[in-house]
Amino acid sequence: MKAVRNFAIFVSTIFVLALFFKLNQTPPSAYEHHAEAKYNYYTVDGDTEQELRDSLNRNGIPAGPGRSYDGYTRWYIKWNWKTDTNQNGQCYISGVDTSLDITYTLPQWKYGRGDEASLVVKWEQYIEALTLHEEGHGEHGINCEREIKEALQNLPPEDSCNSLNQKANMAAREVLHKWQRADKDYDAETGHGVTQGAKFP
Ligand SMILES: [Zn+2]
Repeated sequence: MKAVRNFAIFVSTIFVLALFFKLNQTPPSAYEHHAEAKYNYYTVDGDTEQELRDSLNRNGIPAGPGRSYDGYTRWYIKWNWKTDTNQNGQCYISGVDTSLDITYTLPQWKYGRGDEASLVVKWEQYIEALTLHEEGHGEHGINCEREIKEALQNLPPEDSCNSLNQKANMAAREVLHKWQRADKDYDAETGHGVTQGAKFP
């Protein structure tokens, strides 16, 4: 009996946020699973809507000439699998291990007592909407990891491990591309969250 370990890493970059608690839920399957989410904040300041907008533009995430994103999410999935040989001499996947890392970058305005209440309310609503939009992207990463696990686990045995390994990587990449497209479509449909209220001012 021989066991071979295969390994692949893929990265996807998207622009939004997800909920941490969702990643901590017990996975529904028996597969190995590791998930981590990290939050980074950049500081913005200002006393008016326009000053805050200017600060967002200056300190946000660069997105090409003259452009920036207020929020940013990067999800990163690793997968690997083990193969073994069954009684018929066929190569099969005997174990799957995946991990998901999500890093969120979001703005933070440390308002104080001197700041206008209506501006604070408007800001809070904005952050809530931005968070909602980012949650949608985060769900894509979570779904992608789960579907990659399932795709690998469900592959039928092959006569050769080479062939099985190729099919495994193809299957995983296909799922990855599907969810990368889903992120792009989501941003196109929502205008990066504008239709969900993620617009300031
Ligand atoms: Zn987005």
